[in-house]
Amino acid sequence: MAYLTVKDGVKQFTGFRALNGVSISVERGEFFTLLGPSGCGKTTLLRAIAGFNDLTTGSILLDGQDLRAIPPHKRDIGMVFQDYAVFPHLSVFDNVAFGLKPRKVPADQVKTRVAEALKAVHLEALAERLPAAMSGGQQQRIGLARAMVINPRLLLMDEPLSNLDAKLRIELREEIRDIQKRVDIATIYVTHDQEEALAISDRICVMSAGHIEQIGTPQDIYGNPQTLFVANFVGTLNTLKDTEGRAKLLADLGLHTKAAHWTVRPERLSLAKAGEPIPSRSVAVPGTVSKFTYLGREAHVLVETAAGAVVVQIANPAYGAVRNPGDEVSVLFEHSALMAFDADSKRLPL
Ligand code: ATP
Repeated sequence: MAYLTVKDGVKQFTGFRALNGVSISVERGEFFTLLGPSGCGKTTLLRAIAGFNDLTTGSILLDGQDLRAIPPHKRDIGMVFQDYAVFPHLSVFDNVAFGLKPRKVPADQVKTRVAEALKAVHLEALAERLPAAMSGGQQQRIGLARAMVINPRLLLMDEPLSNLDAKLRIELREEIRDIQKRVDIATIYVTHDQEEALAISDRICVMSAGHIEQIGTPQDIYGNPQTLFVANFVGTLNTLKDTEGRAKLLADLGLHTKAAHWTVRPERLSLAKAGEPIPSRSVAVPGTVSKFTYLGREAHVLVETAAGAVVVQIANPAYGAVRNPGDEVSVLFEHSALMAFDADSKRLPL
């Protein structure tokens, strides 16, 4: 049995169902991420596990124990919030020690445990400082140390990096991942940032409108999405227009599946100049460049074709691969790059 299981979780607010039967299981030491757009129920699920709100129906078991029967402060769960929630008038040390107060830990142990937690987040040198003078990244490290110092059975993190700038967000997410692996505490992490989820997680649970769309490793979620929602939410997706051009392309690729939606990721397409030889496993669709977006490491080229407008991602645009609006090109499609979905947006095998 998994370490943490939520089974058939329903949360009904007055007039609004925020969770509509969600089930997850998290293993010991696992980094498990809830990913989805604003309002999909991520925070509601996290708060139900923490005990800040109770499920309307459903069960939550931690290590075989019924969590719903235990009040929040007795669940031994560490929590890190978006807004740091540090006490400005307490030193870094006292902020971290705060979590140990109600647990009546002897003073000498408080010292060692706080020192260990501060070391884990690289703040040992700043123990006596007041957090007010510290950066957002440092304040969030205090939050993390405070959550970890109680040796929690579970660590919950609700968008902990949202208030930080892009560069620091990437730095700190790497650190969080390293610390989590070192301390080996099962962690549930909430984010709406797909790249962050892919970078940090052992498994990702993609949610939409109070239900679960798919649970899988980052590679599964990105490379093998089971619904159109997941394919669209995680990564960029081209949807081919239902035209004669699409029908011809599918026939040329030998794809005879009946599907409501045909899609392909920009990086699975490539471009050839008009008249250039075409690799044997590709099918070329002629088109005209309508937009070129330079992104540094890569570029996105928007091409109008008979199967609709598609974005093609090209590598190393700094080194001569620039296309200009009006250029005649061929978009190269491969059989294995296409993903098909039925009318209910469920993935179809090809
Ligand atoms: P965000 O990323 O914006 O925090 P989320 O996925 O975490 O989104 P939740 O905070 O779980 O979403 O909210 C899910 C839905 O439940 C939202 O539509 C929200 O408005 C609604 N909701 C949350 N709390 C209550 C409440 N106390 N009463 C009524 N509706 C609520």
